Amino acid sequence: MISLEGAGLTYPGPPAVTALLPCDLEVHQGDFVTVVGPSGSGKSTFLNIVGLLDSPTQGRYRLSGVDTGQLGDATRSALRGRRIGFVFQAFHLLPHRTAAENVQLALVYRRVARRERADRARELLARVGLGHRADALPTTLSGGERQRVAIARALVGTPSVLLCDEPTGNLDTATSEQVLGLLEELNSDGVTIVVITHDPSVAARGTRTLSIRDGVLTEPQARRGHV
Ligand code: ADP
Ligand code: MG
Repeated sequence: MISLEGAGLTYPGPPAVTALLPCDLEVHQGDFVTVVGPSGSGKSTFLNIVGLLDSPTQGRYRLSGVDTGQLGDATRSALRGRRIGFVFQAFHLLPHRTAAENVQLALVYRRVARRERADRARELLARVGLGHRADALPTTLSGGERQRVAIARALVGTPSVLLCDEPTGNLDTATSEQVLGLLEELNSDGVTIVVITHDPSVAARGTRTLSIRDGVLTEPQARRGHV
């Protein structure tokens, strides 16, 4: 469903920075891909391309057969909204809004009718195991719970791909485990997952692990297929 053909990105600068050298990659529906690499190696650039936040400056990116280089801004945003969810290291929750309100706000932008929003937000929070914390403010939630709220928010558009940039970067080991367990659950429901991580134990959870070094994407040892 994600298909990169000779896709690379050079930021124009000046000075121009080649953040991702031309690469080929096929990610299939239901894959759980982890991406490792040192800081500054091009991981976020790669994720931004896959997430349609940035376009490759060379080569081609097809998402479910759609050549994304041919799309105008509005069509691109619509495709992103329909297919892709984002999860970041820093959660990005609004501090003075409850968990349910944080999720509901994402529904406002999707023009979901007001009376449906509350139900849908609660449903999504229940999905991530936080039905009982719907009315809590983020400051009263643990790091892992905050990240699960952020994941519930990322699920509002029923994305087929969830892109996660260091989702456990701010979490301790036990809490990371909960978040990874949730991502694995979503994956077994068919959601394609891409997780950038510094942590080798997180990387090992992928059914495939990609490595990026100095903008060069490789798949050192293919472990394709589910056990
Ligand atoms: P990572 O996520 O692996 O730390 P990034 O993808 O953020 O790496 O960055 C890869 C390279 O591209 C780095 O050298 C970085 O400085 C550069 N870079 C990132 N964003 C921009 C930008 N908007 N303009 C110019 N250079 C950038
Ligand atoms: Mg990064």
